[in-house]
Amino acid sequence: MKRKLKTIDCFFQRDNPRATPIENPNLTNVQDSDPINLHTEAAELNQQETLATTFERDPGKRVQILMLPFDQQDEARRFYISEGPYQVILDEYPLNDASHARRFQSNWFKQFSWLEYSPHTDRAYCLPCFLFSKKPIGKYGLDTFTVKGFNNWKKVNEGKECAFLKHMGNSGSAHNYSVGCFNNLKNSMTHIDKVMVKENEKLVAEARLRLTTTINSIRWLTFQGCPFRGHDESQNSLNQGALQIIVKFDFVFILLMMEKIMKITDVLCQTLQKKSIDILNALDSVSNTKVLLGNLRNDGWDPVLQEVC
Ligand SMILES: [Zn+2]
Repeated sequence: MKRKLKTIDCFFQRDNPRATPIENPNLTNVQDSDPINLHTEAAELNQQETLATTFERDPGKRVQILMLPFDQQDEARRFYISEGPYQVILDEYPLNDASHARRFQSNWFKQFSWLEYSPHTDRAYCLPCFLFSKKPIGKYGLDTFTVKGFNNWKKVNEGKECAFLKHMGNSGSAHNYSVGCFNNLKNSMTHIDKVMVKENEKLVAEARLRLTTTINSIRWLTFQGCPFRGHDESQNSLNQGALQIIVKFDFVFILLMMEKIMKITDVLCQTLQKKSIDILNALDSVSNTKVLLGNLRNDGWDPVLQEVC
């Protein structure tokens, strides 16, 4: 008698929670069904029949947000917002089974940014309503763009009677409420990302400045043969180590100020050292230097402070 060969897989359980089906005894796998020949009623139940992963993007296959475990709902909303509406462009969409058969048009995506299309069910859905509408209460038409999907293409672009426009409704409609929630969460996600990036860049710049300053100070002390540590390095000590002193704010500030002042007065010093200089040129140099030092005193503090900080 032959023994059944065991593979290594049978000793391990799947550990990817996203690949695990929702624990619902009503769900069965019908992914192999032909999407075009689905009966209308069967298609309406397709959401319940389809074995969907948690973050499936196809709106005809994905699980309703409210059916997800509570701690995954917010994560799912952020995922779908970051991915955007599922707008699949096909060369030719399937004809529906109406008496005058029509098909979905890809240019509707341009007119209605919220619109999604499922190649699996050949139906249209609304992303903001899917993410933020309340639990369906069974009232006719309310869950068309979230659960059942819409495929009555004849009703699209019928002027005021256009099904997409009717779904959007007026400013206080459920759809516009969902769009508001969608935009708020999208903006907050973008805002948080930007703040995080900016804050990280600031932290990196500060760390880099501290490191460069310390390295330069160590190099300077080494070349001068100065000791790094002093006799007493406590905060109020008058005999702190040289390394402690030269990385302090006031030390760096005074050095920078001295450098700027010496750059300004350098021209005057060189002029005065020339014996052939006439008194008018010397007076011009004194006057120019005075103006430049005045400018530094009036407007030059901020750049120096920024450089030190
Ligand atoms: Zn909607």
